[in-house]
Amino acid sequence: MGSIIETINLYKTFKLGSMDVEVLKDINVNIEKGEFVSIMGPSGSGKSTLLYLIGSLDKPTSGSIRINGRELAGMKDKEESILRRRQIGFVFQFYNLIPNLTVEENILLPLTLDGKRPGKYKERLERILNDVGLTERRKHTPRELSGGQQQRVAIARALINDPDVILADEPIGNLDSKTGTEIMGLFKKINIEKGKTIVQVTHSMESANYGNRAINLKDGRVY
Ligand code: ADP
Ligand code: MG
Repeated sequence: MGSIIETINLYKTFKLGSMDVEVLKDINVNIEKGEFVSIMGPSGSGKSTLLYLIGSLDKPTSGSIRINGRELAGMKDKEESILRRRQIGFVFQFYNLIPNLTVEENILLPLTLDGKRPGKYKERLERILNDVGLTERRKHTPRELSGGQQQRVAIARALINDPDVILADEPIGNLDSKTGTEIMGLFKKINIEKGKTIVQVTHSMESANYGNRAINLKDGRVY
């Protein structure tokens, strides 16, 4: 199995006024294709920052990130955004759906933003709606759905480009425990049946147990 996500001597510093705050310090992680990894650690330890760097939503201060063996640092902006859109799916704690679009329009958004015609992706849309259990809800808008259903829409949207990697930041942090268990089961299914590499941020041991291993952060370091 090859490495799909690799960070080498990764550092991230945020400027707060005249102060530099070093949020990630010398992070070296290696995630193999098909793994389901949980990034754990106390609030403020740098979990989301690490996830966003891996997903190229933000840039490191120094060090290197490789996705499928390709170095992010040297990429042109356009090349990087293509990689982000096609190879990485994002799921967030508060779903980040567009309120005035229907379920299926939300799911198709990464394709329409990419200039593709959604009509060509009918079969894929059907399959994904079925996978996440939302076939009957396709014409609804997010406000007509429960939190768990909204998160299913977000997961479907993350899958529409058939990316290799799904990155999820506290995906069940806003859900009750029963719904959270269902959503974690869905991630597990996507990992096992579709072979997607999943990296989730969580501070719950219970949801970390759905993964095959944990990366523990404390004060910006892996320990
Ligand atoms: P976690 O997800 O583990 O709770 P974060 O990665 O969100 O932690 O944040 C780690 C630290 O970095 C915190 O101290 C936070 O305040 C700081 N931080 C995160 N994002 C920014 C930003 N855009 N500007 C300044 N400081 C930030
Ligand atoms: Mg966070």
